[in-house]
Amino acid sequence: MCRSAASEIFSFDVAAAVASDVPGGYRASLSRCPTCSFLFVADPVWLEGSFSSELNRLDVGSVDRSLLVASFVRGLLGRRSRRSSWSVLDVGGGDGLLTRVLRDHGIDCRWTDPYCEPAYYVGPPADGVARFDLAVMGEVALHLTNPIESFREALSRSDRLMFTAVVPPEKVTVDWWYLMPSTGQHVAFYPTTAIAEIARRLGADWCSDGKFFHLLSTTGISRALRRRVEHRELSLLAAELYDVLGLLDRARGRQRSLTTKDQAAVEAAVHDKLKGTDD
Ligand SMILES: [Zn+2]
Repeated sequence: MCRSAASEIFSFDVAAAVASDVPGGYRASLSRCPTCSFLFVADPVWLEGSFSSELNRLDVGSVDRSLLVASFVRGLLGRRSRRSSWSVLDVGGGDGLLTRVLRDHGIDCRWTDPYCEPAYYVGPPADGVARFDLAVMGEVALHLTNPIESFREALSRSDRLMFTAVVPPEKVTVDWWYLMPSTGQHVAFYPTTAIAEIARRLGADWCSDGKFFHLLSTTGISRALRRRVEHRELSLLAAELYDVLGLLDRARGRQRSLTTKDQAAVEAAVHDKLKGTDD
């Protein structure tokens, strides 16, 4: 990433099931950059094919994680997340669950992903918004083979990018849980020194909770925003408060979500399609 010569720390087997066409599977090599400490699996030729495979079913935690990321995003956006004027781009949105949850909470979140079909997402296309208030990469960064380019692209759609990635321990060993050799899909790991390097190369400010949630911004980071990232409990607590307030609103018959609007849009589309068949 910073163009220093990286060296291998160790190699490990990627599950044979990923590479059903390759008997015995693949051998992955984990390398570390001596300068920025970025860790990566070099040349993961199996990666692209792995996303459409049945192996995604191994990701039991995906719903729990989507809900956690949705809460963090809502806490990060602050009180204004309770207005639908915020626009969020879900980059690499996968099955669209995060997008759906945010729209259900009234945030105009749009989905984009070159590899997946959004099972949960119904809504307007991402092209409809020129510039988003926030771009989000929920558990995407760990799949990237060219992080700088992917982050640059996300920041071309928004001044701010929030991404998640488990920060590796100082000494990564072959049994580190986040390597996930059962899927072979985790290929990039970001110590905070690597996040600092990404920010430097993109001319962005950054902050992090040092564990999982990270923010890049090309227009500076306010003190309040920094606090909500560095102390993630503040964002998550705020989201809990918004949940309670949202439930009270619903009990009083006030609906802030985009659910009904999206439902109407999908019904209109089906109606048009049927009408087209009749004609
Ligand atoms: Zn480096």
